[in-house]
Amino acid sequence: MAFTVRTRSSTSRARTGTLHLAHGEVQTPAFVPLATKGTVKTLEPRDVVALGYELILGNTFHLLLAPGPELVAEIGGLHEFMRWERPIITDSGGFQVFSMGHGGVADEIKGRRGRPGGDHGSGSILAIDEEGVRFRSYLDGGERFLSPEGSMSVQAALGSDIALVFDECTPFHVSREYTERSMERTHRWLERCLRWHADHGPAGQVVYGIVQGGVEHDLRLLSAACVASSASEGIAIGGSLGREKAQMHEVVDWTTAELERLAPDRPRHLLGIGDVDDLIVGVELGIDTFDCAIPTRLGRHGVALVPDPSTGWRADLAKGRWRTATEPIQEGCRCPACAGGFTRAYLHYLLRAGELTALRLVTLHNLWFIARLMEDLRAAVDAGRLSEVAAALRAGAAPGAVPADR
Ligand SMILES: [Zn+2]
Repeated sequence: MAFTVRTRSSTSRARTGTLHLAHGEVQTPAFVPLATKGTVKTLEPRDVVALGYELILGNTFHLLLAPGPELVAEIGGLHEFMRWERPIITDSGGFQVFSMGHGGVADEIKGRRGRPGGDHGSGSILAIDEEGVRFRSYLDGGERFLSPEGSMSVQAALGSDIALVFDECTPFHVSREYTERSMERTHRWLERCLRWHADHGPAGQVVYGIVQGGVEHDLRLLSAACVASSASEGIAIGGSLGREKAQMHEVVDWTTAELERLAPDRPRHLLGIGDVDDLIVGVELGIDTFDCAIPTRLGRHGVALVPDPSTGWRADLAKGRWRTATEPIQEGCRCPACAGGFTRAYLHYLLRAGELTALRLVTLHNLWFIARLMEDLRAAVDAGRLSEVAAALRAGAAPGAVPADR
């Protein structure tokens, strides 16, 4: 078993634990920064380690298109290729492939609408059938094909510690009938992925199944039961989690309640969620790991995470009001940007000037902020004080400043 639970909260479904993976251990609950194309954008691996991260997420879809799994395997796998020595989780590519066909499910899940094609340029789906998905590469327009077996073989070549099964990620706007048919196909693909992995998967790589079912209560329970009864060693929650936060929390609640009943000792990953308030709720609902573009993407847009719920925990440093601000991003923060003495005025100026150093500094601060938040939540669960600490964080306490053992 690759997961040991240390403490279970008596007031919620929260728990702390350790993932024991081929490239090391991961303390949970943990946030997983994105290394989509083989790098946590603007950072080196040593920066990510220094921030306190033990696990990052690489992207099967993007790495398949470029540089290609053959080259990565030839150079020794994704760890060696990007010079990251700790555990890596790879997604299956399903999310990105289906984002092209469903008019930007990525944007929809992240709360944005109306950008067909999402982040993926001119790529498009040509056909979906039982065998897999034929699509057009957004890089060169060439036709490509991804199947459950194909996705697993790419992840085997990348050599990740955790592989995710290939699934169809259904968006919010499709019908219940479509969601149900798609979920059933995802369950058949789960079995094909596990079969392929049992025969060909690299030693030490574990596989997570993915619960789908959209916002339908009965489908989520069915899907949770299906994945729990499979041989997958961990369980991810994917797909459309709803139109707004309250609905998303409800869908996660249904799912983790069922998983707590059917597979209490298997680790749970929540795909694509990473707002500060959602991380707190997610931990309370019994999620062990989260991945999300938010902290790093905001950083590259000059938006810093700050302990202020009234602004959604955000400060846009590109705004004119910071032009002469002499304070750091966050008073008392010990991240490289704040401890380094960089003022908001300087970061504002760099952002306006298009200087890359600003993107790196704000990314460092944001990932530091989230790492301390997760540390606080772990300490709080272990100390039996999660409700107090969660309330303080929700009220705007600075992560890293909330003592869990007073
Ligand atoms: Zn900072």
